[in-house]
Amino acid sequence: MNEPILTIVVPCFNEQDVLPDSITQLSDFLKNLISNQAVSANSKILFVDDGSKDQTWSIIYKESLQNQLIKGLKLSRNVGHQNALLAGLFAVKDASDCVVSIDADLQDDIHVISKFIDKFKQGYEVVYGVRESRSTDTFFKRSTAQWFYRVMKKMGVELIYNHADFRLMSKRALSELERFEESNMFLRGIVPLIGYRSTSVYYDRKERLAGETKYPLKKMVSFAFDGITSFSITPIRFVLMIGFLSFFISLIFGVYFVGLKFFGSTETGWTSLITSVWLIGGLQLIAIGLIGEYIGKIYKETKRRPKYFIDIDTFNLPVPRHLIHAEVQPDELFNVEIRKLT
Ligand code: UDP
Ligand code: MG
Repeated sequence: MNEPILTIVVPCFNEQDVLPDSITQLSDFLKNLISNQAVSANSKILFVDDGSKDQTWSIIYKESLQNQLIKGLKLSRNVGHQNALLAGLFAVKDASDCVVSIDADLQDDIHVISKFIDKFKQGYEVVYGVRESRSTDTFFKRSTAQWFYRVMKKMGVELIYNHADFRLMSKRALSELERFEESNMFLRGIVPLIGYRSTSVYYDRKERLAGETKYPLKKMVSFAFDGITSFSITPIRFVLMIGFLSFFISLIFGVYFVGLKFFGSTETGWTSLITSVWLIGGLQLIAIGLIGEYIGKIYKETKRRPKYFIDIDTFNLPVPRHLIHAEVQPDELFNVEIRKLT
């Protein structure tokens, strides 16, 4: 069998601190794979710049001019990790036999990729990288993540435990992924739905090489919330159940107060009245809000807006030969590329 063409896709958002290192490590690693004839010489690494505000793109672009293995995809603005990843996956799909996605901070062990390739050669179409220990994550990150998996499971969403977006997918699996047209793509939930032969490879997660997490609490919460509401309607059912419950409770109270009126003292407290008003009001607002969240999702999905916009793609559009060794400012290079596209 011919060696498979491997493409490694790396989404990057404001990663200037970590990129020079990641580029060297990934590129050395891929060179090794190629020279060991584990993968084809046409294998590449694609860095996706997710609308970074720092030097991320110029680092990628400069590198792509010097290093045959490195390619760059620049999105016109920030669309978030999942969409940036999708942009990369679909850009390289046609030219690859298998694609590995990995974060730019190399918290995931790149050496595991050789195991991914072995599994792929054994006929697996999806290989999940699963973190064996999270000891390098902060306690907070670790416990929130664990909660997330638990809640998702309760809600009926089957996720691979402790698997993030470090995985290998075959060309075939990617084609199937492309058929999902929803605009909120929660990849960890969707990939298992494809159902091709899959397996897991275990590794230890390391610390970020440099820079800071791009998932602060606010983004983490909205990511988790999106994950839940785009996969499960259990929360709405829950609201319905609470509604029924509070309805019955109020019936019981009604009977009780009527009883008091006839057989006991009529001093029904203002306190209990005002508490129940607030309680019911609160429950109703939560319920309406939750339903609104789902309607918002429906609204978003029906519009079918594109998930990302590609500005420059050096993977599919080769850089003109005369520019390869040119000593030009990165800014000028951008202009050349943009003009070529428009
Ligand atoms: N990322 C991205 N767009 C965003 C946020 C993050 O492409 O809007 C990328 C980021 O550059 C990194 C990956 O997603 O390669 C994961 O982010 P990070 O390492 O900060 O998350 P953590 O490991 O802390 O969960
Ligand atoms: Mg990280």
